[in-house]
Amino acid sequence: MSGHLRSGIPVAERLDWRAQLRTVVTRADQLLELLGLDAAAVGYSEQAAGAFALKVPHSFIRRMRPGDPRDPLLLQVLAHALELQHVPTYGRDPVGETGTANPRAGVIHKYRGRVLLLVTGACAVNCRYCFRRHFPYGDNQNSRLQWRDTLRCIARDASISEVILSGGDPLIAGDQHLADLVSQIGAMAHVRRVRIHSRVPIVLPDRVTESLLDAIRHPRLQTVMVVHCNHANEIDETVLAAMDRLRRGGMHLLNQAVLLAGVNDSAPALVELSERLFAAGVLPYYLHLLDKVAGAAHFDVPQQRAIELMAAIAKRLPGYLVPKLVRELPGEASKTRLW
Ligand SMILES: *Cc1c(COP(=O)(O)O)cnc(C)c1O
Ligand code: SF4
Repeated sequence: MSGHLRSGIPVAERLDWRAQLRTVVTRADQLLELLGLDAAAVGYSEQAAGAFALKVPHSFIRRMRPGDPRDPLLLQVLAHALELQHVPTYGRDPVGETGTANPRAGVIHKYRGRVLLLVTGACAVNCRYCFRRHFPYGDNQNSRLQWRDTLRCIARDASISEVILSGGDPLIAGDQHLADLVSQIGAMAHVRRVRIHSRVPIVLPDRVTESLLDAIRHPRLQTVMVVHCNHANEIDETVLAAMDRLRRGGMHLLNQAVLLAGVNDSAPALVELSERLFAAGVLPYYLHLLDKVAGAAHFDVPQQRAIELMAAIAKRLPGYLVPKLVRELPGEASKTRLW
């Protein structure tokens, strides 16, 4: 396959990542036509897409199986009629990120030693189960000047040893902005690590360029990249290549997944996910129970079933490939481990 990837598109002919972002699919008819599927058959809802836009890059669509209405990647991005059902225990701020946890624009500080920056509100993909799908990003935007102020606060707080770049998806930001943030963070002697929480290396792997690596690397800081991949089919040759670049660039690679009904809620799917991740040089970190965010109830896997799945995969995988099953409860000092 020299010079060609499984997608059938020669490397040189692929658009750069910004052009790929400009051409993300936002229309259901276009997505379904590419997959040879019928809107009614897959449960698509225009109203659901009106509440939270449909958005998916071509690079991710190419990993879906044409003609399969239950494709695990499609289910993560398709606006579904089930999102409209009202479920009383599901709300708009499921994990307690407003109020005191959001001390200033663009900052979430819940856990000791770690502070999380909302670098941008945008993502390359809109995941239907996203716990921040109702997050007030509009109130959390910072200009470059405001970021300097925010970072000055972190510089004065010696309890912070790790700064997490999150969002939205922080890798939607440009290299220069990321380099600015990392260099200011690197100037704080008490900070040891930068962590980046991003789904972009999975859904838009061409974003992982040498110039991105230059932007996020710092001579004094360790860099941890926590990617977000829920199913083995998300990892194709383009993702393997991106992970290889990240590793050669000195990043420590971890994955967080969300346990999602119909997507990855079986022992074979979870075993294969861990195996494929490790083949890509990524260690499984967290498997999250679904946050109870309005519109996502149909993805819920009951806690008891989740624990049974963990017991089943622990019998089939080396210990280092078994993720920690966690749930995020508002007001707790850490994520709550269930397995
Ligand atoms: C999950 C999370 C972190 C990181 O927690 P770890 O257990 O260290 O991975 C930090 N801040 C916030 C607000 C989080 O939600
Ligand atoms: S990439 Fe992450 S933040 Fe963005 S929609 Fe998906 S789960 Fe939410």
